[in-house]
Amino acid sequence: MHAEIIAIGTELTTGAKLDTNSQWLSIELAAVGIPVHYHVTVADDLTANINVVRAAIERSDIVLISGGLGPTLDDLTRDVLAQVTGTKLLLHEPSLEIIRGMFARRHREMPERNVVQAMFPEGSEPIPNRRGTAPGIYLEVVRPQGGLCRIAAMPGVPSEMKVMFQDDVLPRLQPASAQGRVIRSARVNCFGLGESAAEEMLGDVTARGRDPEVGITVHEATITLRIESSAPTVEESLAKIATTKQVIYARMGDYAYGENDEELHDVVVRLLNDRRQSLAISEIATGGLVAHRVNCVPGAESCFRGGLIFPGELPTENARTSGGAKLAVEEQARTCRQQFDADWGLAVGYSSQSTDDERSATAPLVWIALADRHTVHSFELNVAGDPAIQKSRLAKSALNLLRLRLVKSA
Ligand code: ATP
Ligand code: MG
Repeated sequence: MHAEIIAIGTELTTGAKLDTNSQWLSIELAAVGIPVHYHVTVADDLTANINVVRAAIERSDIVLISGGLGPTLDDLTRDVLAQVTGTKLLLHEPSLEIIRGMFARRHREMPERNVVQAMFPEGSEPIPNRRGTAPGIYLEVVRPQGGLCRIAAMPGVPSEMKVMFQDDVLPRLQPASAQGRVIRSARVNCFGLGESAAEEMLGDVTARGRDPEVGITVHEATITLRIESSAPTVEESLAKIATTKQVIYARMGDYAYGENDEELHDVVVRLLNDRRQSLAISEIATGGLVAHRVNCVPGAESCFRGGLIFPGELPTENARTSGGAKLAVEEQARTCRQQFDADWGLAVGYSSQSTDDERSATAPLVWIALADRHTVHSFELNVAGDPAIQKSRLAKSALNLLRLRLVKSA
């Protein structure tokens, strides 16, 4: 049992855009034990598409396609699937209603062109698109030489493709890969410690062969524990995940902050809104990244009062010592809190060179500070090299400081 991934789009074959969908899909398939033998990238060209899809059906058990589901003439995927399987395209009324409804909600008339997005090869199944207009297509083909090929065509837009794959495509593939077993997975995200420290705290949880298995990965200082559970039924599979999560939470304590796609900024906005509290942000070194992340979370408008972004680094000569930098960043936190009349003032600041005797002159000084109405707490971060390339980690550290205070003040 192996899979093939086809990325469709002339912008991919010309090099204008990098195919990140195939990378993401391969990682997801590997996580459920389905190996990928081929990645194919093909332009928006009918003959080329037909050749590629035909070859894939012959040699692969699972074929995942992304792109070419839009309403324009260069979107060919549905025609290709109909031609390759020798079927007609039929109108699927319920899909058309959904697409019409989406336009109506945006107070726009549906262009006649979009009707094509409700056309499906005979015998195929529409896959709902929770993020955009174009539904996906699921199709099973019996090969002339025997055996079944499962095909799922998804939109090219990465956010639409990911949700569709996880919610509606993966469940269709799993029974095949697990021979009657149901695989479910979940992720627990942690922040504030290194990978080896996390492994030590987790002990036997990450041991190979554990049931369910727990894998550990790190991305920009966020540690993700992926639980992979296989059982005869969905209920048993989910129950095993729940038990393992409890063990992880017990061992990781406050380092564990969220699950699945949840990021620190999502958690911070949720905690602030739960407490009806507000936040102001002041940034030197992160170029507004902390504010940007907070601002992107739905619901941020209820708690995020505003931010200040400064270019360069901490201004005063005093900031060249660790003590001086600390005071300057604490002042930043206090000032922005007052300026925006918020409950919390969160600040990140840095100085590129230290004049402290006991440290290297080229080691930057980075401080984060959190002010409430009465006090300011601050921490020095250990940053090697240019803080600009560590921006994401600095932003996360600042948000984590606030998260921990909010959790403890519950
Ligand atoms: P649409 O309805 O938007 O036309 P579609 O299914 O036809 O959807 P495309 O037109 O191929 O998809 O791509 C839509 C967007 O998604 C484009 O911005 C494109 O750059 C991006 N995209 C498409 N394929 C990939 C891919 N393999 N990796 C990363 N981005 C992609
Ligand atoms: Mg398109």
